Amino acid sequence: MIVVQKYGGTSVGDVDRVKRVADRIARTRRAGNQVVVVVSAMGKTTNELIKMAEEISDDPPGRELDMLLTAGERISMAVVAMALHELGVPARSFTGSQAGIITDARHGKARIVDITPGRVKEALDDGDVVIVAGFQGVSQDTKDVTTLGRGGSDTTAVALAAALDADVCEIYTDVDGVFTADPRIVPDARKLDRVSFEEMLELAAQGAKVLQVRSVEFGRNYGVEIHVRSSFSYSQGTWVGPEEKKMEDAIISGVAHDTSEAKLTLKGVPDKPGVAARVFTALAEANVNIDMIVQNVSAEGVTDISFTLPRGETKHADEVLSTLSDEIGATGVDIDDSIAKVSLVGAGMKTHPGIAARMFAALSDAGVNIEMISTSTIRISVVVDGDDVETAVRAIHDAFDLSDGMVGKEQGA
Ligand code: ASP
Ligand code: MG
Repeated sequence: MIVVQKYGGTSVGDVDRVKRVADRIARTRRAGNQVVVVVSAMGKTTNELIKMAEEISDDPPGRELDMLLTAGERISMAVVAMALHELGVPARSFTGSQAGIITDARHGKARIVDITPGRVKEALDDGDVVIVAGFQGVSQDTKDVTTLGRGGSDTTAVALAAALDADVCEIYTDVDGVFTADPRIVPDARKLDRVSFEEMLELAAQGAKVLQVRSVEFGRNYGVEIHVRSSFSYSQGTWVGPEEKKMEDAIISGVAHDTSEAKLTLKGVPDKPGVAARVFTALAEANVNIDMIVQNVSAEGVTDISFTLPRGETKHADEVLSTLSDEIGATGVDIDDSIAKVSLVGAGMKTHPGIAARMFAALSDAGVNIEMISTSTIRISVVVDGDDVETAVRAIHDAFDLSDGMVGKEQGA
């Protein structure tokens, strides 16, 4: 079997943990498998490197920042390979570029456009364990080193699993799998045995941090099932795969939350054709990532438009809109930095009415005010005050009986 294993930063956080990971890899190899390992940077290395760059420059060149950040994963790949040699297991490490991870040229958020894993296959055929530095590739056009965005090692792993037609893709992390809510907020949250690609996409996009969104997209597009599990135990984790394979017939899979966004309101906007287009074109041209949008009912020809965006982009968006505000005759821009988004996700929503009603009633009973609402076919998201996030997550989790000990089938009752 070809097995791809990805180890996150905590799993390779220090020398002892590197040795422990090497031991697990060695067992997988000795069981007769061909093993490809993708590693993240050790512990908080990536954050520390970013901090260092920020101490030097407000706006470091993307090319150089990527050069710097990719060093984190290169340290991990070398030490894991060494630890395997120490155990008598031949291993060879490769950078993303050497492993054939070909990307576009967008530094900091490059997309994989092709994978040419010739050297990986050769090393596997020689009987070596292959260690690949995650989160990085090389641009087809510029030949420069690129990174795939925070959490990108997950995507490296799933993409390699697809390219190698691997039998298993395991993502090792510091938790037991995907939970019905963040266990730090809901201590009796339940580990899911299976979750569909679609549900996992929504959960990851709405703040669940176990998997990078793009790794799930890759898995769905290429049919790679992903086993999310803990590197600190041998128990089964959560399988992410096609909807048909989900055995338990749960209506709701979980509650995700995200405290990384801010809300911006453009006030007193003239309610006439073309205004929203101008606002969002200006933001798009400035590369601001917009999430939820709400336009209020207009009174006397004026309205408010609110939207959420990553908190780090508010300054930029404020500059763009303050200029535009005068041009279109709006009265000003309001920024709310203290918001949270809470989302309920479940494929069963498509066929079960009343889910939104139950969610909103739970929030109301808990005294939480809803500021914005948005939905997809399998998700309901609300924006609430940042101080209410834990109360909101718990209230919703309770209202749908998602806790440990509950049987998925009973959820809709
Ligand atoms: N080291 C990178 C990060 O911290 C990539 C990863 O861990 O997947 O975002
Ligand atoms: Mg991660």
